[in-house]
Amino acid sequence: MKAIRRNIRLIAFVLIAALFSLIIYGSYSIATLGTRWFTSGANNYANRVKTGVTAGSIFDRNQVPLAVTDANGGRIYHADARVRSAVVHAVGDKANNVAHGAETFLSEHLYAFNESYISRVTGALRGDKRRGNDVVLTIDSTLAAYIARQFPAGKSGAVVVINYKTGELLILQSFPGFDPMRVNDATKENPLQPFWNRATKWTSAPGSTYKIITLAAALERIPNATSAMYHCDGHLAVGNSTIVEAGGAVHGDLNLRRALAVSCNTVFAQLALTMGDAQMLKTAQAFRLNDHFLFREVVVEDSRYPSQNRTEREIAWTGVGQSALAVTPLHMALVASAIANNGVMMEPRLLLRAVSATGELKATFQPRAYATVASANTAGIIGDYMAEAVSNGTARGAAIRGLRVCGKTGSAQVDGQEAENAWFVGYIDNAQYPYAVCIAVENAGGGGMIAAPIARSIFQYLTARR
Ligand SMILES: [Zn+2]
Repeated sequence: MKAIRRNIRLIAFVLIAALFSLIIYGSYSIATLGTRWFTSGANNYANRVKTGVTAGSIFDRNQVPLAVTDANGGRIYHADARVRSAVVHAVGDKANNVAHGAETFLSEHLYAFNESYISRVTGALRGDKRRGNDVVLTIDSTLAAYIARQFPAGKSGAVVVINYKTGELLILQSFPGFDPMRVNDATKENPLQPFWNRATKWTSAPGSTYKIITLAAALERIPNATSAMYHCDGHLAVGNSTIVEAGGAVHGDLNLRRALAVSCNTVFAQLALTMGDAQMLKTAQAFRLNDHFLFREVVVEDSRYPSQNRTEREIAWTGVGQSALAVTPLHMALVASAIANNGVMMEPRLLLRAVSATGELKATFQPRAYATVASANTAGIIGDYMAEAVSNGTARGAAIRGLRVCGKTGSAQVDGQEAENAWFVGYIDNAQYPYAVCIAVENAGGGGMIAAPIARSIFQYLTARR
């Protein structure tokens, strides 16, 4: 009898504990994921509210109108098809083909869901059709159209440009783009999937751009890492496989500064093996891999540090940015911007301000630090090595005379692809031009040849050196 009573008590305890955790999880997910749910196209309540409200306009950072509602209630986009196509993934489209563009993800502002009950009632009494707030995005649509002309024709990929001091996203661009006012069968059937926002949703191995994170791990975990000498024979046997260098290079004796500048695979594989998987994972987590990104204005796929099949071979390949690493272009832009910003990663932002129909300011921009990923000292050393990669290494294609540019290239190999994915991450080290970029071009070739020159043209544009 006693045993039964004890069991009943135990069961009751478990049930109550389960109920409590459900309540806590429920409140947590409403608080953190509310906007995601509320703005989803499947939310019938939100769709009903929207039909009673005229959507506000969307402007770029220079007040260029990107989306407006005309007199008949139709939604129209920028007059130039090239601009429409260049900003469509950031702005979104009325048919909701782009899953989380501003059109849907900022609908709280555009349809003034957050307006007070009283002002809704007084508006209704006056017989007005309610009008939502205008929003001003951080996006630069002229730069977006300029980048679209630089990006290799017929290729897919992404470009992100971010102010590393504030987190403002000047560019959040995916290729191929599409014209939101002329979506046809060709758009829908394009095998490169133009609706997909590769900047935020595509996760892939970042190739040698990941050496920035391996380097951060080495600087913080291996004593005297800055003065140690390493050796490269052009190949390194690990288990039953061999790590090799791009183009059959043999780098000989070199320190870490030179190893990053020439992107030596065998040295970075050695670093990973010296530190081991647990230490590499810790630094990856510090840089927010395996995190659950819940940014306020941008929906970003989580990045992953691999956890399966962790052989010596896989650990070595992880050190050079291959193995099963999966990172978005936006996240790699955040990595570069954290290095530029003394180790502090800012939250990426898309909204500069929201203004009501009567001119009342409804939301303003406040920068917010998201994470400290490395010490200021470590970030400074990495920046110095990245500057060497641009002035005297594989990232030379991004160099601009008279400007301190820091960068790292990547040429990621993907099974089943003819060519490599070309990557570049980097930034301008200058308080007047605090911009970081990530460029990724799929199935295109080496990062130094393909991606670094795009970064240079963006930096030239931003510093008016075109
Ligand atoms: Zn080497």
